[in-house]
Amino acid sequence: MNSQDMIKTIKISDKVYILEDAFGTCSNLVIGAKKALLFDTGCGLDDINAAVRKITDLPLLVIASHGHFDHIGGSRFFDKVFLSEKDRNILDTYDEALLNKWISEMGDGDDYKTQDSENAIVQEITFGCKEWKQIANLDFGRFDLGDLEGEVIELPGHSAGSVGIIFRKLRLVLGGDALSPIITLIFKNHGSIEEQRSTIKKSIDLDFDYFLVSHNNKLLKKEILYSMAACLENTEEKRFIKYTYPKPPYGEGYFHVHSLRDEPVGLIVEQRPTKIK
Ligand SMILES: [Zn+2]
Repeated sequence: MNSQDMIKTIKISDKVYILEDAFGTCSNLVIGAKKALLFDTGCGLDDINAAVRKITDLPLLVIASHGHFDHIGGSRFFDKVFLSEKDRNILDTYDEALLNKWISEMGDGDDYKTQDSENAIVQEITFGCKEWKQIANLDFGRFDLGDLEGEVIELPGHSAGSVGIIFRKLRLVLGGDALSPIITLIFKNHGSIEEQRSTIKKSIDLDFDYFLVSHNNKLLKKEILYSMAACLENTEEKRFIKYTYPKPPYGEGYFHVHSLRDEPVGLIVEQRPTKIK
C-alpha cells in the first residue's frame, strides 16, 4: 500500500475536500477554476501531495494554518508552504529526531492500526524536515483561485500565528485548530483565554455559514461559534478537571466540558483560571 492511500478523502462539494491523515489531521483542499488551495499538510506520515494529485492537477497554493507539527509535517512533500511569521519560532523546537520519535509513537497507536494492517512499515519512515527551507513567510492577505477569492484571517489563541481562510463566495471559513470546538490552549506558542475569546468574537462577525477545522471531518455550522464564545466566558467560575493529552506532542492541563450537544464544545488550558483579586 502506498502512503498516500492512508489518507482518507472526504468530498464536501465539487470544490471542497477534506484529506484526513493517519494522525486524524484534516487538511482542506479548495479547487478553483485556475488554482487550488491546500490548507495544512498533515503530520507528514502520508504523502499528501500524491493524495491531492489524485483529485486535481491544478497549480497548488499551500498554506499552513499554524506551526504545530501535525499541520506542517507534510510540508516536506512541497517546494513551498506559507506559514505565519509568528509561528516560525515553533519550527526551531522541532528536529528530525523528535519528529521521527513522535511519528513512530503514532504508528504504535490504535488509530493507525485500524487503518492499515501493514503498520510495521511506519517504523521505516524517516521524516525529513528539509531544515524547514520549504516554509515561507505568509506575506499576503488574499489570493485568487480563478473564480474564488480567499482572504487570510488572523486567528491568534491556539497559537500566535494561527490563521484561517474565508471564501466569501462559498460562505465557508477554514479554521485550522484556531476554531476547533474543543478549544486547546496548551500547545506551543499558545495565547490566553482572552485572546481566544476575541478571536471567536471576530470570527462571529464575519459573514459565512459553515466552517471546517483540523481535527473534525465534518462541515460545522457557524452557530457552534456562539457556544464556543459562551464556553470562554467567566471561566474562573467553571469546573475544570485534570487532563492529559495522550498522543504526540503530549501535554497536560485542565479540561472544561461546556456542551455535549451536536458538536462537543470544551476548553483545555494549562492552569485552572482564577479570579483576579
Ligand atoms: Zn495545533
